[in-house]
Amino acid sequence: MKPQEMFGSRVFNFDVMRSRLPRETYEALQQAMATGKRLPPEVAAIVANAMKDWAIEHGCTHYSHWFQPLSGMTAEKHDSFITPVDHGRLIMEFGPQQLIRGESDASSFPSGGLRATFEARGYTAWDPTSYPFIKDYTLHIPTAFCSYDGQALDKKTPLLRSMDALNRQALRILRLFGNFDAQRVTACVGAEQEYFLIDKALYNQRRDLQYTGRTLFGARPPKAQELSDHYYGTIPRRVQDFMQELNEELWMLGIPAKTEHNEAAPGQHELAPIFETVNIAADHNQMMMEVLKRTAIKHNMVCLLHEKPFEGINGSGKHNNWSLSTNQGANLLEPGATPQENAQFLLILAAILKAVDEHQDLLRLSVASAGNDCRLGAFEAPPSIVSIFLGDELTEVLDALVNHRTYVRETTADMSIGVHVLPKIPRDISDRNRTSPFAFTGNKFEFRSVGSAMSIAEANITINTAMADALMQFADELEKADDFHAACEQLIIATITKHRRIIFNGNSYAEAWRKEAKKRGLLELRTVADCLPLMASEKNVTLFERQRVLSEVEIKSRVEVLSEQYCQVLRVEAQTMLDIARQEILPAIAAYAGELGLAATHKRQLQANNKAPAELPLLTLLDELMANAAQEADKLDEVLSSLEKSHNWMTLALKCKQTLLPQMRALRTVCDAAELRVAKKHWPFPTYGELINSI
Ligand code: ADP
Ligand code: MG
Repeated sequence: MKPQEMFGSRVFNFDVMRSRLPRETYEALQQAMATGKRLPPEVAAIVANAMKDWAIEHGCTHYSHWFQPLSGMTAEKHDSFITPVDHGRLIMEFGPQQLIRGESDASSFPSGGLRATFEARGYTAWDPTSYPFIKDYTLHIPTAFCSYDGQALDKKTPLLRSMDALNRQALRILRLFGNFDAQRVTACVGAEQEYFLIDKALYNQRRDLQYTGRTLFGARPPKAQELSDHYYGTIPRRVQDFMQELNEELWMLGIPAKTEHNEAAPGQHELAPIFETVNIAADHNQMMMEVLKRTAIKHNMVCLLHEKPFEGINGSGKHNNWSLSTNQGANLLEPGATPQENAQFLLILAAILKAVDEHQDLLRLSVASAGNDCRLGAFEAPPSIVSIFLGDELTEVLDALVNHRTYVRETTADMSIGVHVLPKIPRDISDRNRTSPFAFTGNKFEFRSVGSAMSIAEANITINTAMADALMQFADELEKADDFHAACEQLIIATITKHRRIIFNGNSYAEAWRKEAKKRGLLELRTVADCLPLMASEKNVTLFERQRVLSEVEIKSRVEVLSEQYCQVLRVEAQTMLDIARQEILPAIAAYAGELGLAATHKRQLQANNKAPAELPLLTLLDELMANAAQEADKLDEVLSSLEKSHNWMTLALKCKQTLLPQMRALRTVCDAAELRVAKKHWPFPTYGELINSI
């Protein structure tokens, strides 16, 4: 199959709908998809039937409501189409109820206390803005997942709500600028995905990778990424074959995989799709992560999505490229050609400065996970301080505006709108800063703090909601103004002045920035445990309730889920470390020491002159390492047991950070030192050097 034929061949997309649905039905569905409105039941019945026929023709026997619980994974429960009828016959059935609403036992999905045990059911509801697709002979229907009384138990529901909020407020702004044509404003996202590939046979020898997705031990190899010979380097044959199959799988699912290249670390790669509407981009990214893992296995490799699989080596992120687009395709983050458009661009830019500055805590929280804590601020990823990069030129434009200077660039013409003067924005702003968490890249913002293993939903729920709120406040003020242009200019200037501190164009990895950021009063929230207490603050509850994205109860349930997840991940990591240290590393040191000891004894028996055997100094060292490792393991065991007693997840999270993490570090340090001194043949699992160069 050619890529053109392949693309979307497993998706119930516009083309399929057009060819299979009566015209009125197709149009009604289109309308629902474009406006995000509910589908009338009679339309749903026809759609369901067409969908079933199409799926069966493609070999499906089952359908599944596919959803995204708070665990950050995807979930599916398969039901077959079969329905028994008279005389032991079967028919294949799929009605509007099954398409639109499903019911599933939600008791094992995290709900953060939202769902009482007596009401364990959860409901899934089709999101008609996202296409159904076929995977494993099963028709997958993208759905939202909520409790009996409509509380969101997933990541899709608030994302859709945040899109609505953003649309409502952005349209108000467009109307103020005289745009009455645009019907909908949506956020568009292109999420670049980083990942590692390692050989499956080696993976199978490491329990840490199997249980936790990252290595918990491992000394630095003599050569990792120091020579920068991997970035954009030739893609190895085996990886090339994998990528070929990966692309085909993704294309068939309608995922526009576009760019692939080697990343900075050996064994690390990146895949970037073409940007799409944010909820589709979020669905597609979830599917992409799954396809990455499955395809790797087929090629005897394992795809590691963890944010920091190897300490001391670059971790993986997910760069969330975000922009705002009208249904007519105009990008609101594109500096305009006319003064009118420029004023609008500057107002939107001002809203972003305000949104990001006021909600640094939420942006940090939106990328908070135990895995991402290992990566953020590790000198290859943005720090845990949120700031915005605009580039020198755009910053200069804003500063000139604030200081009532005219920004001069060779071709600056007079750009007055009405009586007031706003600068012309150069359209070719091409600065790049790879260290900033939130960087303007010409016509979009790149949020670089998102972790490689996480759903992009949280990040975009936060950006959309914060942005909607800023635009709402702007619209409230400007709709009242007598002189719109004057008020708009004043508002832009006042906002930039107030939130100027969030702009930082320098090196965000530098230690100096941490000091500077502190002086500016910006937040630095290093771990999940540090940001958890801020999540349900009054400011944040007000924001989410005002924009109708999350209720206070829903926010609190999310705090619970995030706290619990953090604790559980750390607990599993600590337990895995303990097991590996006691069952693999200590015995390896002992075995080598035993061998040396035996050799030394032999020598002593042979040597008449009583010269001390050369093994002795190393033996002494190994003995010390063994004692230390055993001691640190015992301490870790104690800390772990002490944690069992606590019940409040948020308190426990803080305890994990304060006591568990440092003890895990202590144990690792001794064991890594031992790795460098124990004979290779005794070391129980593949080393960093072997792992990252395994392909
Ligand atoms: P780079 O960030 O390396 O300069 P690109 O600019 O080509 O690379 O884009 C990286 C990602 O940003 C891709 O996924 C791309 O589809 C996405 N992207 C490009 N333009 C937009 C836009 N207007 N809105 C959202 N994402 C975009
Ligand atoms: Mg990029």
